[in-house]
Amino acid sequence: MMELNDKTKISNFLKVRENFERTLIDYDYLIQQIGRKYRSAIGGYPHITAFYQELISKLSKNNKTIDQIIDDILTDKEYSYLKKSIEPIVIEEKDFSVETKSAVFIKETLKNAPKCKLCHGYIHVNSTTFDHINRKEDGGKGNVENAQLAHPYCNNIEKN
Ligand SMILES: [Zn+2]
Repeated sequence: MMELNDKTKISNFLKVRENFERTLIDYDYLIQQIGRKYRSAIGGYPHITAFYQELISKLSKNNKTIDQIIDDILTDKEYSYLKKSIEPIVIEEKDFSVETKSAVFIKETLKNAPKCKLCHGYIHVNSTTFDHINRKEDGGKGNVENAQLAHPYCNNIEKN
């Protein structure tokens, strides 16, 4: 993922991945607000990346709830335009917009989306590996009970 290139950064990210993904889902409207402010996906990209980095760094400190962390980030004047609000946006239009459709699709698919059993982050069907719960070296067998889904990266580092 994005600017996580060295090993330490990746392993720090894996520790907070579950909460990071949780935050992106629960506070997706903040990301939308950043995108709207900079008016295009491309214009908003560096700002969204900066927001993600800030979030990862604060989640890594691990001493606050996600909600407190969001409050902290929003006190930064860089983010003064963001509104922490769960009030639904009023839509007068009768047809579903592309944004509404994609929000519904994401909401429905995430309920059943598989997660990596090692880092607890969401896992994409195209990058799934099967991890031995009890390692082969320790006598683990290739049966259903001893198998779990994992990211290729997580499966690899766990063995080393
Ligand atoms: Zn993983």
